[in-house]
Amino acid sequence: MAVSLRAIRNIRFSSFLYRALSSSLSSGADLKSSAFFGHSKSLPLRAEPKDRNVQWVFLGCPGVGKGTYASRLSNLLGVPHIATGDLVREELNSSGPLASQLEEVVNQGQLVSDEIIINLLSKRLEAGEAKGESGFILDGFPRTIRQAEILEGVTDIDLVVNLKLQEEALLAKCLGRRICSECGGNYNVASIDIKGENGKPGMYMAPLLPPPHCASKLIQRSDDTEEVVKERLRVYNEMSRPVEEFYRQRGKLLEFTLPGGIPESWPKLLQALNLEDPEVKQSAAA
Ligand code: AMP
Repeated sequence: MAVSLRAIRNIRFSSFLYRALSSSLSSGADLKSSAFFGHSKSLPLRAEPKDRNVQWVFLGCPGVGKGTYASRLSNLLGVPHIATGDLVREELNSSGPLASQLEEVVNQGQLVSDEIIINLLSKRLEAGEAKGESGFILDGFPRTIRQAEILEGVTDIDLVVNLKLQEEALLAKCLGRRICSECGGNYNVASIDIKGENGKPGMYMAPLLPPPHCASKLIQRSDDTEEVVKERLRVYNEMSRPVEEFYRQRGKLLEFTLPGGIPESWPKLLQALNLEDPEVKQSAAA
């Protein structure tokens, strides 16, 4: 009985988030206006964190590994991993009306407009709701203060994980990224070896090579070129860095500096989040 009550609450909550995000589009541009927030706050549908699954956000520069760790946590916690970059790529690979416009913006390393992103995210949440999903780990959203304000206005984010990595590694990781065109698996051919100097620790990240059945099907993202990655890093510092401060001020930010590749970082991240992965436990005990 308790389970079904919880499920109903989750569905109602998810509907609310979808409607509220969508209404942010139709309510006009000024999302700080009391019309928008007044409307959303008057709906008595906010679920308490204990009654629903986690609602987390992953922040961090391009190439830091948001997708890798958000997807691992999504499997562990049984919540969807929603990457707005994936939603954008799906749309630009479609024959939809936005495809060519999005392709141009993405390939220049710029941000897609808040309106388009909110629209894509709202549709994704609605589709998830129809499948009975609850909770989420957002990856790549919010990326502007305006997106953060919209999200904060419609739901309670429990935790924001800010992933950090030495700057020298970010460009190399983007350039080494490969994706299997068949299964979508993410790999990295870069071998990163940063020497420690002047008190700064060194870091080694082994390549994450594909299994043999993916090896011949690897592709690179069209925005993972040196010039575009540098622009994406610049845009992150200008538009998205302030989002870190937005959540820091609200006491929601967990800063996590990746100590190396997945074998070193995953157990430490779990520890920081107070979580346990049965597979990590097993291999430690073996
Ligand atoms: P990502 O896969 O997260 O690196 O995103 C790829 C590209 O999609 C970005 O460089 C942006 O052009 C676009 N994008 C993804 N998420 C957002 C967002 N929240 N706001 C604006 N543009 C976005």
